[in-house]
This record gives sequence, C-alpha cells and structure tokens, in this order.
Amino acid sequence: MHIKNLKINFRHIGGLKNILDIDEIKVEKGESFGIIGESGTGKTVLALSILGLLEMPPGEIERGEIFLDGFNVVGASSNELRRKVRGKKAVMIFQDPMSTLNPVLTVGEQLKQVIIKNQGLRGRLARAKAMEMLELVRLSDPGSVLGKYPHELSGGQRQRVIIALALSCGAEFIIADEPTRNLDVTIQAGILVLLKELQRDLNVTLLFIANNLGLVSATCDRVAIFNKGRIVEQGETSAVISNPSSPYTRMLIEAIPRRREERGVSEEKTAGGKRSGENRLDPAGDPSAQEAAARTGTNGPVLEVKGLVKHFPVRQDLGSRKMQFVRALDGVSLKVESGETLGLVGESGCGKTTLANTMLRLSEPTGGRVVFDGKDIFSLGRKELRAVRRDMQIVFQDPFWSLNPRMLVKDIIGEPLEVQTGFNELERIKKVEKLLEMVDLPAESVYKYVHEFSGGQRQRIAIARALSLMPKLIVLDEPTSAIDIVSQIQILELLDNLKRDLDLTYVVISHDLSVISYMSDKIAVMYLGKIAEYGDVRRIFREPGHPYTQVLFAAIPDINTKDISEIKTVRGSVPSAIEPPAGCRFHPRCAIAVERCSQEEPELRETDDGRLIACHLWDSRGGSRLPL
Ligand code: SF4
Repeated sequence: MHIKNLKINFRHIGGLKNILDIDEIKVEKGESFGIIGESGTGKTVLALSILGLLEMPPGEIERGEIFLDGFNVVGASSNELRRKVRGKKAVMIFQDPMSTLNPVLTVGEQLKQVIIKNQGLRGRLARAKAMEMLELVRLSDPGSVLGKYPHELSGGQRQRVIIALALSCGAEFIIADEPTRNLDVTIQAGILVLLKELQRDLNVTLLFIANNLGLVSATCDRVAIFNKGRIVEQGETSAVISNPSSPYTRMLIEAIPRRREERGVSEEKTAGGKRSGENRLDPAGDPSAQEAAARTGTNGPVLEVKGLVKHFPVRQDLGSRKMQFVRALDGVSLKVESGETLGLVGESGCGKTTLANTMLRLSEPTGGRVVFDGKDIFSLGRKELRAVRRDMQIVFQDPFWSLNPRMLVKDIIGEPLEVQTGFNELERIKKVEKLLEMVDLPAESVYKYVHEFSGGQRQRIAIARALSLMPKLIVLDEPTSAIDIVSQIQILELLDNLKRDLDLTYVVISHDLSVISYMSDKIAVMYLGKIAEYGDVRRIFREPGHPYTQVLFAAIPDINTKDISEIKTVRGSVPSAIEPPAGCRFHPRCAIAVERCSQEEPELRETDDGRLIACHLWDSRGGSRLPL
C-alpha cells in the first residue's frame, strides 16, 4: 500500500474541518505496520478511506492517492471498489465482531457464501474449505463451530471467525482496527499471536490500528504515530519506542503508568499507607475536611471482607421457570488497611465488580460478612447505612454516563452534600468550588454542564463528587479506561496526591495491569469468583506465583515486548460461572494441572514470603516459581 499526499476534510455547519493530512505511508508486502494515536486522531478515517468506505459527504478527499497493488482507490467508482478492492485486495477486521457477522446465519453459511463468491467452490468443496479456514485460525472443534450462530460463540471465537472470513476472500492486505479492544487479555494474546503467525506464514500484509503502544510493539515491524490527523513520526517500531524523536511520541511513552517501585515508592513510605507531605486541604472552616484531618493517625483495617458469597439467579432458558445461579463470588475474604490501596485484577466475569458492589452494599450478598470501619454493614438499618455511606464512595468507569448531563456541575458535586449535610446553597457552592480546586479544575466550572468538559475533566468531576463528603474509602472502578492516553496518567497522579493529602483508602478495579501496579500496595488476583493470589504488589509483580497470575501477566504485551513470542497464550476461555469446573476452577486451562486439581478445591494458603496462593502445587515446589 502506498499513500501519497492525502488530505481529507469533513464538512459541517461551520465549514470544512481538516481530519487527515498525510505526506506518505508505504507498507511493503508481507509487512506488519502499526498506526498509533489517541481516539479522534483520524486512524479509522484512514482505514475506511483505504477501502473506499468513507462516507462522502460529510467526508471529502481534497487531494492525494491511495494505491493498493498499483490500483488508486481515490476516485474509483463504487462498482470498481466492489469488484477490485473490498474483499479482493483488502479486508478490514473491526473491533466489534458482532457488528460484522450476520446474527441469523450460522458461521458455516456465512463462510460458504464468501467462499462461493470469491473462490467459486460449491457444495461439499465449499464446506471443506470453510472447515479448513476455521482450522487455519486455530479454532478448536471447527466442525461444531460451523453449525453455530454468532451469539453462541465467545468474543475471541467470533474474532477468529471474522479473520477466517477475511482470509476466505483471498485478500492479502488486512486492516485490523483495534481488533482486540473488547477482549480479555488472555483472549487478546491468542488473537495477536494468530494475526502475527498468519502474517508470517501466509505473507499477508497487516495494517494494525491501535491506541496501545504495547500491542504494536509486539506485533508490528514499523509504526506511524498519529496526532491530530498528521503523522508526527514513523519508522522501525523498536527504534521509535526506544528513541522517539517527536515530543508527542515521548509524551505517549511517558503516559504509560510505571510501577510503584520504578517510581521509587518504598515499602517504608507505604507501610500502613501513611506518608509525609503537605496537606493541600485546608481544614479550617470546613467541617467535613476537619473530620478527614482528624482521621490522620488512625491505623487498622478499614474494610474486612469475610467469606463473601454472591449468587445471581438466572432463568435456564427464555420462558423457563427453572432457575440457575451465576456464582459471581464464592467465598472471598480480604482486608484493606487504612491508607492502603488494594488492586483487584482478573478477566471479565471473575467477580471483581460484583465484589466492589457487594462490599459497598449496592447489592445484597448471598452469604458472608463485610465489616467497614468496625461495623457489619449487612446488619445496618437504613439510617445507619446512610451514615456509613458518607464514608464509602465509588467512582465509575465512564464519567459521561455516571454524571447527569442535565445538571450543572455545582449540583452534580453538591448533591451528596445536600442529602447528607445541612449546608445551604451558598455553603454548598463554596464547598463545590473548593472540591473543584482539589481536582485541579477552575472554581468557575460550577455553572457548567458535563458536556463542556473533556473525558479527563469529567473524571475529575466524578472524583470531586466522590470526595464531597470526605469519605474514608473510595472504590475506583476502571478509573481511566474511558479516557485518552495522556489524561490517564494525570488522573492517576491526581488520585495518588489526593490519597496522600486526605488519608484515603482505595480499592481499584482495572483490567490494565499498569494502572494496578502504579496505584496499588496490595493486589487480589481473581478467577471465576475466587481469589487465586493475594498479597504485596511488588512481590507479585516481581514473581507472580499462581499459574493464573503468571499467564495473566505474561499475556499482556508492553513497550518492552520485542516479539510476539514473548507473549504467552492460555488455552480456552474463562468457563461459565453457572457451572464452574470442579476442584480448582482454573484446572481446565492450567498447563501444570495434576489429577488432584480436578477433584479438590485448593485453599488460599500463606506462603513463605507472606502472600496467599490457592494452588495445590505451591507447597510441593518449596515456594518457588511454578514451571510454566
Ligand atoms: Fe493449576 Fe492445580 Fe494449581 Fe489449580 S491447583 S492452579 S490446576 S496446579
């Protein structure tokens, strides 16, 4: 592919807006080329333009050429694009496979249609070819997958089917637009390895669009860094990452959260969570701030979770009266000390969000206890619970959905104050202004609406709201996953400063291990409703002990990942929580499982270095790393 001098604008009411302005991109045959940039930088517009799929209007190609195998896509008629380009020279893999697959046709039917159209095969030959394509994308049991509908497949299986469809077209140029964005990390690892193997084995050319430098580092030979529709830097991936020439690339690399130990946060500093430092909050004249200041110096567990169980009833089938139970949490115990940050990690469905919601009593448990600040929160009456709620707050993932768009900032942040304190309007506004300053937003923002702020600023508003009653504990549910790369690190730094200044205790949920390692003192690794490993973040990151922790950590590429072979994949996907596997729940996917693992459930036991691990084989190996 060769792009020359391409300029694309978008027409809107106010006139024309330039979206892309590219001098040159040349992707050689058989190469893997990455495009990196934040959302809204024109990456997807470029991908759509290569296939002639850009909607015009509002899009408008002012000038330039896009050559695919010598054919200029720009200016080609829709008939030519259909006959010569889409599915012939190039195909695209989107982030959401469900939107690409036809929900009313089986996988086999969809594959056969493509094979008949593009390869001229029919009947049994077409079916055999469809099987072959599913084998090529390493789908286990391809015979049964052929007869399934898209909704019967997991996210990873669907993405493999999409890749099989793309390859069935016979196109040798694959555009993958954030193909692993909605997948769990262990599934993501499998898809990345597959794409890379196909590129190497079949000499397919891969254009990989991502917003994560780690993914590109592991998969792409060369990379172009996009900012505001322009290429700020391009070259060999390893050279760009190790020696970036553009300030924007440097900023992207610096925006990756570093581990606590790399930042020089020593064990003494975080022991018990107390650290020295200027208290930016002035308690004078502010009753809730005085309460917070008075808490300084109190140690001990703020939160104790004991044998927590949460089962959700679900109907066996649509219309059926028979109930089944999703065992979202099955006996989880942990402790969060005052001033500490506990990180919860694990793939979707592991129970981390259910754990957070249940420990805040946003959802009633099936069994077990949660003691917050010395009180068993499940035995509290409404009035007592309301008093306790002042001290426990939650910040959600997407600030756009969690904040009411019809309310002014003064009311969003001031609402808890209105409910819980006797402040009058003027006192409330004064307090909201103070809270805005604490999260580094101008006090004048009180009379604005949420849509007037960027994603990062909205998350600051959500944090200010959570702080309004000066809580002891804040649960941060994926606090940075909905905001752009550069704002992420600013939000993490802000949370770090607030924790220090206000003696806060955090529970952080994130699928992003760099966020967890940046913020946490301890981590709990969860798998299918249970804790697999629990302990000091430095020790676990330095030497993950449980086999699941090991594969989870090894499945995630970062900017130091030089080659796809460094990424470890794990077989299968997370089983259903309705009927979790007997014995150790990880045993069907564990590379070192023994017979006992499928029969007997391992207890969480303390190891020599003070962490807790639920694995039968830990002791027998003398506490050393398991051989994976
Ligand atoms: Fe693997 Fe067995 Fe340990 Fe479970 S108990 S993690 S299956 S070795």
